[in-house]
Amino acid sequence: MEMRADLLIVGAGMVGSALALALRHSGLHVLLLDGGPLTVRPFDASAAFEPRVSALSAASQRILERLGAWEGIAQRRATPYCHMQVWDGSGTGQIHFSAASVHAQVLGHIVENRVVQDGLLERLHDSDVGLLPNARLEQLRRSGKDWLVTLHDGRQLRAPLVVAADGANSAVRRLAGCETREWDYLHHAIVTSVRCTAGHQATAWQRFTDDGPLAFLPLSRDGAQDWCSIVWSTTPEHAERLMALDEPAFNKALQQAFEGRLGDVLQTDPRVCVPLRQRHAKRYVDEGLALIGDAAHTIHPLAGQGVNLGFLDAAVLAEVLIGARERGERLADVKVLGRYERRRMPHNLALMAAMEGFERLFQANPLPLRWLRNSGLKLVEQMPEAKAVFVRQALGLSGDLPQLAKA
Ligand SMILES: Cc1cc2nc3c(=O)[nH]c(=O)nc-3n(C[C@H](O)[C@H](O)[C@H](O)COP(=O)(O)OP(=O)(O)OC[C@H]3O[C@@H](n4cnc5c(N)ncnc54)[C@H](O)[C@@H]3O)c2cc1C
Repeated sequence: MEMRADLLIVGAGMVGSALALALRHSGLHVLLLDGGPLTVRPFDASAAFEPRVSALSAASQRILERLGAWEGIAQRRATPYCHMQVWDGSGTGQIHFSAASVHAQVLGHIVENRVVQDGLLERLHDSDVGLLPNARLEQLRRSGKDWLVTLHDGRQLRAPLVVAADGANSAVRRLAGCETREWDYLHHAIVTSVRCTAGHQATAWQRFTDDGPLAFLPLSRDGAQDWCSIVWSTTPEHAERLMALDEPAFNKALQQAFEGRLGDVLQTDPRVCVPLRQRHAKRYVDEGLALIGDAAHTIHPLAGQGVNLGFLDAAVLAEVLIGARERGERLADVKVLGRYERRRMPHNLALMAAMEGFERLFQANPLPLRWLRNSGLKLVEQMPEAKAVFVRQALGLSGDLPQLAKA
């Protein structure tokens, strides 16, 4: 039997789930499908941390609050951070950002992706959004004015509008023939959680090493402040060597790479290694189609912005669709969907370009460039107004914000 919907969201990751929730009162028949089981796990506060975490900006927090998901997230585990300390490992330049400099209480929260996901899923199960678990999309083709979707088990779905929220390797993007610009960063990221002798001081730490950035992001469990999530971006060969080390040897290498800023590294959870690739779809929309989140763009984790951009995509697309429906417009019309692209693409591209430049500057070894980045860091450190602009950007509180993210 064929199922019908006004709107089919493919992918119930953090971004697709946020879009579905943002449309829960729209009057549209929304179906959200995912290859996974879409169950909310019972939460155990003393359990080990998940290796994948995100630094959520204030704008993302607001969106999640308005979707009713933040409470469930905060009740599980979310660690606020109030400072950011960034320094150049091959020089003396460093820079410190604080929430207090812009009269904010926090710069953001570090949250395990699974916790964000469960907070959103909990609300979705209470809503009238149609959920299709264990539903992996395998084929997509146009059929009259609709899309016809075939799942791995042969089930078929039909809708005039499909949203691709199926992540970096989006099947929808590929099957719909959307072109991307992509390139390897020639970096792999090792992610895990580590326990150190010194507390993290509610600070997100980032050291630029010769091989790539190394971040220590604060985590808390049972009130203890000695755990951090690490994202260690480095060359594939170095990552392979680090992955092969036993735990004591890895702890030692990590401690050295981090200049022992948080004392000794005492314990490391199982490590995960992720190849990093930048991808940007040339268009986010086509007739009856929109791409959001990682399906539209992936960005180097040094920015800590991937899912923050995705939440803004979801909030803007929901706003555009709800507005168009109120005016009686056809939602699948590429002119309607183009409003979403015009609001999101310049913002995402600007941030990706800035991060690309940043990454290249810090990768560069010629002496003049090393001098430039050292003096640049020292100079900006002495310019409180410039730092405040940067902090407001990081909080996600500047630019063309959707209603869901506004104060
Ligand atoms: C090392 C690392 C660190 C990061 N740190 C940060 C950070 O600090 N802050 C930040 O903002 N971002 C960060 N990011 C980026 C962030 O993790 C991503 O932007 C985010 O997870 C993307 O969410 P998404 O919902 O778009 O995609 P995904 O999380 O990939 O979700 C896609 C969903 O689609 C489903 N799916 C896929 N294919 C199909 C199919 N064929 N049929 C049905 N369902 C399908 C999957 O099961 C999944 O549930 C980091 C990324 C990396 C690699």
